[in-house]
Amino acid sequence: VMGIATLFYIFGRERAVRDHVEMERRQKLEDQARDLRVQATRDPLTGLYNRLKFDEALATEIARSTRHKTPFSLVLYDVDHFKAVNDTHGHQIGDRILVEVSRLVSARIRNIDLLARWGGEEFVILLGGCDGQTAYQVAEHLRAAIEEGAFADVGSVSCSFGVAPYADGDDVETILARADAALYRAKINGRNRVELAPLPTAASTRAAVERA
Ligand code: GH3
Ligand code: MG
Ligand code: MG
Repeated sequence: VMGIATLFYIFGRERAVRDHVEMERRQKLEDQARDLRVQATRDPLTGLYNRLKFDEALATEIARSTRHKTPFSLVLYDVDHFKAVNDTHGHQIGDRILVEVSRLVSARIRNIDLLARWGGEEFVILLGGCDGQTAYQVAEHLRAAIEEGAFADVGSVSCSFGVAPYADGDDVETILARADAALYRAKINGRNRVELAPLPTAASTRAAVERA
């Protein structure tokens, strides 16, 4: 009986050790997978989603909207005269402004909205469930918050916004082209403002895609 009990004890302990090692290895693999996922989907400077993640989310949202006839909108925005910020204060302070603007915007959108760094000093938000008017109001709220923000060293900063609601037949390119055209209008109409893209016609869609 003593011999059998000893064997049970030894095997039991060995098994506990094996389970523990296995658990640690699995935990490490999960941590590595999470790091890779973050690297693949996030912009390193701002911590926002990157363009890859945004493209994927936009394609999914278009499929959903086409199927369920639910609205969504894009808000594209760009820091005004950002080159002058870099030239006057240096690239590092420029970087910090991008981080601060990103924090300010992140704090003012909903969990279900997807905010991404589109590139350079340009950002994009996917507003699920929002029609053009609602998205315009959100963008106007963000524009005002940035204008009123106090930024260390630089003082005030502003952004220009282009808003494009999803329209029947839109694909990734056409809706982005309309948001971009609206942003361009916000720039030429004086910056620090929001422009809402008009609903597309077949001709305007083709022209916008060609320009982009
Ligand atoms: P506009 O109002 O027309 O947008 O003028 P702008 O000066 O903001 O636009 P422009 O395209 O002339 O310059 C954008 C500048 O943004 C130039 C580029 O060096 C700077 N930039 C892009 N990415 C980064 C970045 O990651 N960090 C910093 N510090 N600057 C960046
Ligand atoms: Mg700019
Ligand atoms: Mg730009």
